[in-house]
Amino acid sequence: MPIADLIKQNPNGLVARALAFAEKAHRGQTRKSGGPYFNHPLATAETLASWHMDDATIAAGLLHDTIEDTGTPIEAIKKEFGDEVAFLVNGVTKLGHFKYRGEKARKHDAKDQAENLRRMVIALSEDLRVVFIKLADRLHNMATLAALPPAKQKRIALETDEIYAPLAYRLGMYNLSGELQDLAFPFLYPKEYAWLITNTKEQYETRLAYLETVKPDVERVLREHDITPLKIEVRAKRYSSLYKKLLRRNMEMGRIYDMVALRVIVATIPECYATLGVIHETWPPAPRRIKDYIAMPKPNGYRSLHTTVIGPEDKTIEIQIRTKEMHDEDQYGVAAHWLYKEKGGSKISGKKLAEELTWVQQLRTWQDHFSGQTTDAAEMLQAMKVDFFQHRIFAVSPRGDVVDLPAESTPVDFAYHVHTEIGDTCTGAKVNGALVPLDHKLKSGDVVQILTQKGKKPSEDWLRFAKTAIARDHIRTALRSKNRFPQKERGPARAELKIAVEDRVGLIKDISATIARNHANILSFHSDNPKGNRYPFDKVEIQTTERAKIEKLIVKLKAIPGVKEVSYHLI
Ligand code: MN
Repeated sequence: MPIADLIKQNPNGLVARALAFAEKAHRGQTRKSGGPYFNHPLATAETLASWHMDDATIAAGLLHDTIEDTGTPIEAIKKEFGDEVAFLVNGVTKLGHFKYRGEKARKHDAKDQAENLRRMVIALSEDLRVVFIKLADRLHNMATLAALPPAKQKRIALETDEIYAPLAYRLGMYNLSGELQDLAFPFLYPKEYAWLITNTKEQYETRLAYLETVKPDVERVLREHDITPLKIEVRAKRYSSLYKKLLRRNMEMGRIYDMVALRVIVATIPECYATLGVIHETWPPAPRRIKDYIAMPKPNGYRSLHTTVIGPEDKTIEIQIRTKEMHDEDQYGVAAHWLYKEKGGSKISGKKLAEELTWVQQLRTWQDHFSGQTTDAAEMLQAMKVDFFQHRIFAVSPRGDVVDLPAESTPVDFAYHVHTEIGDTCTGAKVNGALVPLDHKLKSGDVVQILTQKGKKPSEDWLRFAKTAIARDHIRTALRSKNRFPQKERGPARAELKIAVEDRVGLIKDISATIARNHANILSFHSDNPKGNRYPFDKVEIQTTERAKIEKLIVKLKAIPGVKEVSYHLI
């Protein structure tokens, strides 16, 4: 809902008061692109409203530059708008100005960058809403980038392309990620951009015009079959991703089918399939180009039906079919959870959302770990980018847990991301049912089963191919302790929990998170499914023998959906 409507609905609400406050605070200031400065926080807040953010976030979007640019004290914001809004505004201010210079950064710059990334990580794990505000802020800054001097344009565009666009992507905000890349593209690759415009403009426009003529046909045949589409839109491929695709296909424009596509949004999943049927009945589908991402979502959660048909005048048309919910998830990513969870009655907080995103937690753990060491800042930045901001693959455990890893990761990386103990005791791996060497490079969608043996230790050789900093770090730690205590096996008193479970996605994660929250160290984790047992079970060794603590933990474990029974004994 646009800000103006929000204010009409609630003239004395948070948003209305924040708007008046920010307007007054920025009065007299102008932007480099001309016009009153207040246009910028207003545009930021409009974007947040279009992502269905809550009022506190929208208000903080309006106020996000008041501390830094108007000298308003944080106490004034707290007094006027309360702790929540003040926390968000303060969080965005603390993220500060990211002086990003990319790979070519000099050493002392690298230190600043690492510090900035560190702040971003903390913001991410504390309250994702701070990051949403920062992304909305960046979106408007990119849209008005032309007004800045060229050197600054390049730096901001690079930072957007290398940090903010991947960050948006990792939050599932694919549309925003693409938009940020598209806005950065002309500043980073001016020659390529000019080439693309010259060589594709006509084809683009012809295709767009063609699809506009097909649109009413699609609507008509659907209505004839009693399907009322909520929306049919023509979607043009972004220049930045078109360019990447062309590079992969030797610049052959003719082979890009989906340069422009039709998108049909309907109410329900059965209607998605009915729509596909009607379309195939009307226009013949191109063979092997039907993709059912509803039955088999992409590992990143993307859902839609895709098909390519031979339309009127024998021209190919790519069509995507999805429900409103799928569409919103694709557009807004994790922000869509607000929308749908809120409808269900329980409002989800930014902090809760951050907890749900395991990779945010991984990032936080990883970063805490590194900040305690005297690691070279440039090296840390590089490692962080390799681990979290580069191309990702999504591998799957036999139970269906998705493990998100950088490209070229190996089974050893997979094992350590599931659990340290599984990594340490890994002896081999099966990928899609076949045994593979441990340096095998995983691909998205691979089902990875790790073979373990109790008491096994990592081999020094693993450092040759392990890709992630998490795995490399654990291997080094394990090697160190192996060398320090060559004979001694682990000593601490421990207990074994036996947990009967009903298999479901995410269960291992929930169990280990519950144990960790109760401050019990996990020493080992094994899943077993012996014949004759009603349920498979997980055996977890934890490092404590305090019965009271264990019994308290058991109560918590039993509350996890899918956990059927828990017993324990001391070892
Ligand atoms: Mn700003």
